[in-house]
Amino acid sequence: MIPFNKPPYTGNEEQYVLAAMRSPKISGDGEFSRRCQTWFEEKLGCKKALLTPSCTHALEMAALLIDVQAGDEIIMPSYTFVSTANAFVLRGAKIVFVDIRPDTMNIDESLIEAAITSKTKAIVPVHYAGVACEMDAIMEIASRHQLFVIEDAAQGMMATYKGRPLGSIGHMGAFSFHETKNYTSGGEGGLLIINDERFVNRAEIIREKGTNRSQFFRGMVDKYSWVDIGSSYLPCDIQAAFLWGQLEKAEEINQNRLKLWNAYYEALLPLAIDGKITLPSIPEGCVQNAHMFYLKVSNLDERTLLLDSLKRCGVYSVFHYVPLHSAIAGPQFSRFHGEDRYTTKDSERLIRLPIWYGMQECEREQVVDSVLEFFA
Ligand SMILES: *Cc1c(COP(=O)(O)O)cnc(C)c1O
Repeated sequence: MIPFNKPPYTGNEEQYVLAAMRSPKISGDGEFSRRCQTWFEEKLGCKKALLTPSCTHALEMAALLIDVQAGDEIIMPSYTFVSTANAFVLRGAKIVFVDIRPDTMNIDESLIEAAITSKTKAIVPVHYAGVACEMDAIMEIASRHQLFVIEDAAQGMMATYKGRPLGSIGHMGAFSFHETKNYTSGGEGGLLIINDERFVNRAEIIREKGTNRSQFFRGMVDKYSWVDIGSSYLPCDIQAAFLWGQLEKAEEINQNRLKLWNAYYEALLPLAIDGKITLPSIPEGCVQNAHMFYLKVSNLDERTLLLDSLKRCGVYSVFHYVPLHSAIAGPQFSRFHGEDRYTTKDSERLIRLPIWYGMQECEREQVVDSVLEFFA
C-alpha cells in the first residue's frame, strides 16, 4: 500500500535531538530554537521569527497581537483548515468568507473589497499548496482600508511571490511543522514571523505567558514580571532540534519534492489535454514548494470512484477541506459574502496524490499508472 504521506526525515534529526536532551536547557528558546529562529530570520527576511507549538498557535498569537475584539470581522477563504478561522473566533470575531479562484484554490483577491465593512479588521490569505495568493492586490486593498494582513503560510515554507518568501509580505505570517508539511519539528510545530516591527516586543511577551521574560534573559530588565495578557506558546528545544536536522537540508528536501511534482505533472498532462482532469496552475511570479500534488476531476461522484479505484490499486489518496461555511460550526461563527461559485464545486472535484520527501520512482509510477488505468 502506498501511503498518502511519510513525515520528512533526513537522518540528522537523531543526533540533534540527543544533543538537546543532554543539554542543561531543554525548555523553550534553547540553543536549537535560537539556531532555527536565526535561520528563519535570514531566510525569510523578517523582523522576528518565533517558534510555536503549532501553526494554530501562531495564528492565535497573531489574533492577540492585532487585538481582535468581539464583533470584529476577518476576511478569509472558506476553503481552508479550521484553525485559520478558529484562531480569530476564539477572540470573538465573525469570519467573513469570500470565494476562491479555481486556478489556485486561493482567495479571489477581486472579491475582497466588496466584503469589507466598518467592522473588518484583517484579511487572512491562505497560500494553498504553497502557491501564493495575489499579494500585491491584497496588500493594496489592506493598506487603503487600514486592515491587517496575516498570511496563513502553513503550507508555504520555501515558496515565493515575486521573489519574496511567503509569510514575509503581510504584517505577520504563520507556518506549520506538522508531520504532513514539507518540514516537521517531530510531528507538531509552528512558526510565527513578524514583518511589522511594532509587534515584535509584544509578541515575545504574549508568547512568554504575558511576562517580559525574554527581555530579562537579554539583560534588559533585572527581574521579569506579569506585564500583559499571554499564554504559553513555546515549543521545547527537543522539537527545535528535530527541525534543525531538516532546515540544514531544506533546499535538498525542496528540490526532491519539486522533482516528484514535475514528474507527476508531465505524466498526467495527456489526461489534462484530453479534458479528463484539471492540473494545478502556478501563476507567473510564483515559485511553489511542491507541498501538494492535486488534480481535479469532473465532479464529486467521479472523485469518489477514483478514490475507490486507487485504493484497490494500493494507492492511498485523499480529498481535502470541506468548506468551513458548510461545516457544522459554520453558521454560528461565519457568513459567506457573495456567491459561492467555486469554493464548494471545486473542493468536491479535488484529490491529492501521495507525495513525500524521498518517495521512490517506482512508488510514483504506481500512482500514475493507477490514475491512468482509471481513465482508460
Ligand atoms: C496545516 C495547516 C494549519 C494548521 O497547522 P498546525 O501546525 O497543525 O496547527 C493551518 N492552516 C493551514 C492552511 C494548514 O495547512
